[in-house]
Amino acid sequence: MKGFLKILAAAAVLTSCNSAVKDTAQTDGGYNGKQPKYIFYFIGDGMSQPQITMAEKAINDEEFLAQFNTQTCNIYNIGKGYKMNVKRFKNAALATTNAENRFITCSAAAATALATGHKTTINTISKNGERTENLKTVAEMARDKGMKVGVITSVSIDHATPACFYAHEDDRNSYENIGHWLLKSNFDFFGGGFVRWDKYKDMTKEQFFDSLKIKGYTIATDLQSFNALNKNTGKIFTTVPKNIDTVHDGSTLPYNIDLDIQSDDNRIILKDFVKKAVEVLDNEKGFFLMTEGGKIDWTDHANDAVSNVYETIALDQAIGVALDFYDKHPEETLIVFTGDHECGGLTLGFAGTHYESAFNLMKNQTISYQEFSEQNRKFFKNKPTFEQTLEWIKKNFGLGDTAVLPLSDYELKRLKTAYDEVNNFLAKKEPKLSKEELYLYYGNYDYICVTATHILDNKAGVDWASYSHTALPVPVYSSGPGSEFLNGYIDNTDIPKTMMKVADLK
Ligand SMILES: [Zn+2]
Repeated sequence: MKGFLKILAAAAVLTSCNSAVKDTAQTDGGYNGKQPKYIFYFIGDGMSQPQITMAEKAINDEEFLAQFNTQTCNIYNIGKGYKMNVKRFKNAALATTNAENRFITCSAAAATALATGHKTTINTISKNGERTENLKTVAEMARDKGMKVGVITSVSIDHATPACFYAHEDDRNSYENIGHWLLKSNFDFFGGGFVRWDKYKDMTKEQFFDSLKIKGYTIATDLQSFNALNKNTGKIFTTVPKNIDTVHDGSTLPYNIDLDIQSDDNRIILKDFVKKAVEVLDNEKGFFLMTEGGKIDWTDHANDAVSNVYETIALDQAIGVALDFYDKHPEETLIVFTGDHECGGLTLGFAGTHYESAFNLMKNQTISYQEFSEQNRKFFKNKPTFEQTLEWIKKNFGLGDTAVLPLSDYELKRLKTAYDEVNNFLAKKEPKLSKEELYLYYGNYDYICVTATHILDNKAGVDWASYSHTALPVPVYSSGPGSEFLNGYIDNTDIPKTMMKVADLK
C-alpha cells in the first residue's frame, strides 16, 4: 500500500508539469530481469470473470458447440472438450477499474488507465482528468523505443478503447479528431473495424483513405488483399468490406453469431487479424500489439448472453494465437489479458432456476440482438398478430417450442407486454408501463428482443443486473517476463506501469 501511495504522490507531482506530452508515471525502476521484446495486450471490453466462465461452460456443452460451429460456418471448427486459452496463462490477478471521478467507469477512462497508468475522468481519451495534458501511452512509448506497434479491435478502430492507445482527446465522441490522431500515430498496423466516417464533418471517407496512403499505409479491405499482406508490405490499415460503403452497426466486424449470413470477405475474424499482425510486425526490435474484443461489451449492454459467448470465444481464440507465439519465445514475450470493466452485471445463476444451469439451451438462439432488432423492425411493418410474433420469436430463439423451450404463463405474459408496448410505440400511443418499468424491462433496446434474451438467458440459468457497466473487478491474466508483478489484488493502472518498468518504455 505504501508503494502504491508513493506512486500516486509521484503521479501528482508529474501532473503539475506542463510538457505537451508528459511521460506517464514511472515506477522507481529497479527491474533487472529479462526485458520483453514482444508485448501482447488483450482487452475484453465489458468482460470480467462471469463472461469468461459462461463462455467456457457454454462451449463445453456439445449441443451448443455444434450450433456454434454451424453459426460461424466452421471457421473456428472447435472440437469437443474445448480448453479455454485463458487457462494457459501463468499468473492471475484481480484489478479495480474505477475512474477518477466515478466508481463505475467507462471504456474511455478505463482504457486511459490501461494505456497510460493514470486514472482519468469519464469519456476522456488518454488525457489527465482536467483534460489539460496529454498522457503518453504504452503504445506510443513502444513506438518511440523502435518497436513496431499494432492496434486491433472488433469495433470501430476509433472507438474509446483502441483510441486510448494513440489519441488524446477531451471526449471519446470526437471521432474525426481521433481519426487525425490515428493518421499521425505512425503505428504499423491497424486492423478490424473501420473509422466512424459517418461522424466526420470535414474529412470524407475518401480523404481519410488518401491520407492513409500519403502516410504510407497499404489498405486492405477484402479477403484477397488481406491475404496478400506480408512482412514486406510496410504499414497496414485493414478492415472488412461491410464497413466501407455504409456504416452498419458502427463500422465493426460482424457479430460472430451472424457469420453465417456474411460474405467470405466479411468473415475475417479477430484471430485472423492477430495472426496477420504477428506475421508482419515481427522484427529485430520487437513489437507491441493491443487487441480488443469490443463487442463483448455491446452484447452485455443488450443483455444478450448467447452472442456474448460467441464474442468471448472469438477473443479467447485470438489469445490462442499469442499464446502459441509465447510458447515459441517464452523468454521474450509478455502477454497480458484483462477486461476494461464488467458490463451488464452478468451472473451465473438465476432466482427462477435455483441451483440449476442449462447452457445447452443457448443453442436455440441463432442471431445477435443487433441483427434480430433490425429484422424485427421490418417484421413489425406488416402489423403481425401476437401469434405470428410468437412464431417469429420461436424461429430465432427457440422460445415456445414445446419440446425444447416451453413458455410459462409468466414468460408468455412478458412477451405479450412487450408486444403490446411495441404496438403502442408504433401507433404513437401512451405506453401502459411507466417510464421506470419501460427502462427496467427493456433498457433502450428492442422490447421484443431484450425480453426474448432475458427469458432464454434465465432458462439457461444466467441473469443480468444492469444495461450499464458495473464496478466488479476484472481478472488480469499474464505470462512472460514481468508478469510476476501482476499478481494479487491490483489496480488497472498497475498493468501499464508494469509494462513500462519491465520493457523500459518511456
Ligand atoms: Zn460499454
